[in-house]
Amino acid sequence: METAKFKNEIQTLKKFFEIYCKEKHSDQEKTVKILNYKNEIIEINLNLCPECLKKIEYSFEKLLACPHEIKPRCRACPNPCYEKKQWKETAKVMRYSGMKLGLSNINKKIKNLFKK
Ligand SMILES: [Zn+2]
Repeated sequence: METAKFKNEIQTLKKFFEIYCKEKHSDQEKTVKILNYKNEIIEINLNLCPECLKKIEYSFEKLLACPHEIKPRCRACPNPCYEKKQWKETAKVMRYSGMKLGLSNINKKIKNLFKK
């Protein structure tokens, strides 16, 4: 995939994992992760507990190794690279945070509706 797409995927993972971790866990630690994708150095700041950090690092590894030039959604991938357990856990995080984000967007819309 293109580097821009890769960065985008990384940012999405970061956002979703951080929302989930903040709600569910404590003892988050700030970490800086350096990734090398297609000879470009990508720096990413994370604020996650050790457990979530391990999970997101797994996802980063999988993304780094993703062979698709045009990446499908992982859910629709013909040969998924995640191990089943990891996939389930990541899916849970994404679903939870997706719902949270969806809800807060709706709340914002409603607030705007009643703003004078
Ligand atoms: Zn966590």
